[in-house]
Amino acid sequence: MSGLSKDFVRAALGAAAGPDGRPLGERLEWVATCDGYASVKLDAEDVTAKGDLDALARRVHGAVRAAAGEKGIALASLIVELVDKAGTVKLGSTTGPRPGEDINAKLAEDGQATSGEQAASPPPSQPRSPQEQASALPGVRHVIAVGAGKGGVGKSTVSVNLAVALARRGHAVGLMDGDIYGPSLPTMLALDAMDLNVHERMIEPFFTHGIRAITIGKMVDPEKPLIWRGPMAHGAFKQLTEQTNWGELDYLIIDLPPGTGDVPLTMAQSLQLSGAVIVCTPQKVAQDDAVRAARMFQQLGIDILGVVENMSEFIGDDGKRYDIFGKGGAERMAQRLGLPFLGDVPINTSLRTNSDSGDPSANFVAKTAGGDALPAALEKLAQNLESQVSLASMRQGKTKPKLTIS
Ligand code: ADP
Repeated sequence: MSGLSKDFVRAALGAAAGPDGRPLGERLEWVATCDGYASVKLDAEDVTAKGDLDALARRVHGAVRAAAGEKGIALASLIVELVDKAGTVKLGSTTGPRPGEDINAKLAEDGQATSGEQAASPPPSQPRSPQEQASALPGVRHVIAVGAGKGGVGKSTVSVNLAVALARRGHAVGLMDGDIYGPSLPTMLALDAMDLNVHERMIEPFFTHGIRAITIGKMVDPEKPLIWRGPMAHGAFKQLTEQTNWGELDYLIIDLPPGTGDVPLTMAQSLQLSGAVIVCTPQKVAQDDAVRAARMFQQLGIDILGVVENMSEFIGDDGKRYDIFGKGGAERMAQRLGLPFLGDVPINTSLRTNSDSGDPSANFVAKTAGGDALPAALEKLAQNLESQVSLASMRQGKTKPKLTIS
């Protein structure tokens, strides 16, 4: 029996009519599948009323689930996003397995399990997640993905500064620019003048600002548009993680592309993670996207280590605080979702100029960071992340709690 594939999803939607009679296949813009998990994006530019969007999403879920049921194909989770012309999500929804469906047995039957043992080990009521099949990266203790619901919220800025902050706290840290659609590390770490070295088919990471870093930006012509699609994105991501000579690392931070897509699926399936950090600005629209990113990580079986609120407020030269985007919005969202809050990063001109000049270390010195607020905020983020990683390791059974009696 063949398993869940992109072609299967395309065929299921192609054959079905939407609430307005238009075939769903005509609206399909993007599809990704991975071991019983499917994610689709459909054009809903012409659909505006909430009720109509709901009806369209229901039809999409119904069509894929019905076809899967008919063909006996395991569908652990389906993520449906209805988008406008600009790609902004108007409605996102997720459905799980059918009640009573033994998803593990079906995945094994579909030949989607990597080994019989893995498929048989979890209790039948729990669907296997892509993360459960992933393997550890040799020599790397903790892999942390940094994601965001949308671009421009400061995901790369937070990734770089978290990596440098952890290194300044004495850890061996690697940073991978997994944002293969728009790599930022060449600029943020001033890698432009450095040459990439490859030894015996292994890529040597750059060593700069106390961290080891690698970016797809050094492997492609920066003038050419990055049209990495499905399989190419998959291959590029795997090559960057597996063929980089990371050495021994305490933390490997991965800067993911924004949104939900092929790269997080590939990562979840191939790399065992300690968890993910979600970067969000305080506005309501950014939070809505962050909630979707949180759902995606959870669906992939990835622990969420916490939420970072970026651009939370502006502190002027006069020391006065200006609330521009509505400080605290991301923290309240984290509370609502029951997720840890790691801290906030103020809007800071030095942070931007230090990023543009490729000097993140300057963010940790009051003189070059526009005062004490930025270094303190970054230090607190790193500390909170360390604690959350330790807690996640205990939850995942990687370390035992230490009992200290004093
Ligand atoms: P993303 O990775 O989410 O697309 P970036 O990290 O590339 O976003 O940030 C987008 C722009 O915003 C960059 O120019 C960056 O320097 C700037 N930026 C990010 N966070 C802040 C902040 N807290 N204060 C000032 N500028 C910021």
